[in-house]
Amino acid sequence: MVDPLYSSSKFFMQAVAQLESVAPYVGVGPDIISLLSMPKRALVVTVPVRMDPKPGQKEGEIQTFLGIRVQHSLSSGPGKGGLRFNKSVDLGEVAALAMLMTWKCSLAGLPYGGAKGGVACDPYSLSTGEQERVTRRFTAEVLPFIGPHEDVMAPDMGTNEQNMAWIYDTYSMMKGISCPQVVTGKSVAMHGTRGRREATGRGLVYTVERAASQIKMPLRGSTAIIQGFGNVGSVAALELSYLGVKVTGVADVSGNYYRKEGFPVEELVNHTNVHRTLDGFPGIEKDKVTKAELVGMPCDIFAPCAMEREITGELARTLKCKILAEGANGPCTEEADMFLREHSDQVFVIPDILCNSGGVIVSYFEWVQDLAMHFWGEEQVKKELRHRIEQAFYESLNVAKRHNIDMRTAALTKGVERVAMENKIRGLYP
Ligand code: NAD
Repeated sequence: MVDPLYSSSKFFMQAVAQLESVAPYVGVGPDIISLLSMPKRALVVTVPVRMDPKPGQKEGEIQTFLGIRVQHSLSSGPGKGGLRFNKSVDLGEVAALAMLMTWKCSLAGLPYGGAKGGVACDPYSLSTGEQERVTRRFTAEVLPFIGPHEDVMAPDMGTNEQNMAWIYDTYSMMKGISCPQVVTGKSVAMHGTRGRREATGRGLVYTVERAASQIKMPLRGSTAIIQGFGNVGSVAALELSYLGVKVTGVADVSGNYYRKEGFPVEELVNHTNVHRTLDGFPGIEKDKVTKAELVGMPCDIFAPCAMEREITGELARTLKCKILAEGANGPCTEEADMFLREHSDQVFVIPDILCNSGGVIVSYFEWVQDLAMHFWGEEQVKKELRHRIEQAFYESLNVAKRHNIDMRTAALTKGVERVAMENKIRGLYP
């Protein structure tokens, strides 16, 4: 029975439904499934921040933001999960994402539990100074909850390596030690790892390569549509283009764009690096289509890399891709998921906990390097990422074949299995 604190969130209940759907395959009783359907801990904090003074003001106003950190499970190791800055952040969303992190870490064989955090703010409307104050105050508020062996944050939507540097510094100042291991996703100059920024998009492409080989689809000359052109989407687009895939569709908060002959991906990335969004890219206005039109365009690979619940049941029915690569967390609603499951012979779904696990896998490499103070080269990071994500891909595929189930259920089964078994064997405290 899920507490109303969480059950009011559709996204959280979708995560619970997914967990329940794998119960027949994981070999533990309903008590363990029920235990895992609620987060272990959730901390809700108020983040008061002095804003920049407006013209004519000597001192800025104080604005308060909602901050949340949820640790879904700590059975396999410290909590691990991103911190997002987004207006829509709420407890249900963060708790659902924390649960997905538990399965994702487990599927990738990482010694972590699942966690997630968020601050309900619009990072794009905050100055750099305001963002820094939000990040530092949030860190101070959740300090008793985090640490290199307790809970390790990383960037997510609306946050980046600069936010991680502020967390690293705030934690270190308050503890009186230098502790880069408290966060991952830092810049290389700040004890980050090579290849972390590219990890999620790159991992997505490694799984697309495996899926394409399963359905015997040559990647060179195929087409892709990428929804969301931030960290994940832009790197995925770039890496696909290096493999000879034509990127015919892109989307971000500024709109949806389709160009049959393909976009010059490197130039698009250079543009968004400077201007943040796709609008203003020379000639792109004439490519503008609606979201529904973009989703329904024929393509070989469709990669949702924006927000959760973007692909509704109605939109899923219009998809014309052969591979759906879920870069975003939870991009398909329950209806979309059900439709795709019924049509798994037409669309090969690479589910989020597998497809976007490159980020947490390389975060793990960063944490290991920081703990050992021994740093790897980029080729080693790429090689080990490919090895881990391909292993997770084939383990999921084997479960799918063994039980005759779809890839999402299979990946979840694999992810839930280890955590459920650990809970069962460790027993209940006290
Ligand atoms: P980001 O903030 O860098 O980029 C998000 C992109 O989505 C931006 O281009 C934004 O304009 C676009 N967007 C937002 N709303 C949109 C909409 N309605 N339609 C189309 N585009 C829209 O975020 P990110 O780090 O790339 O994360 C994207 C997704 O991937 C999130 O679901 C996140 O949880 C997931 N993810 C990220 C990582 C990571 O390492 N960054 C790892 C795993 C999963």
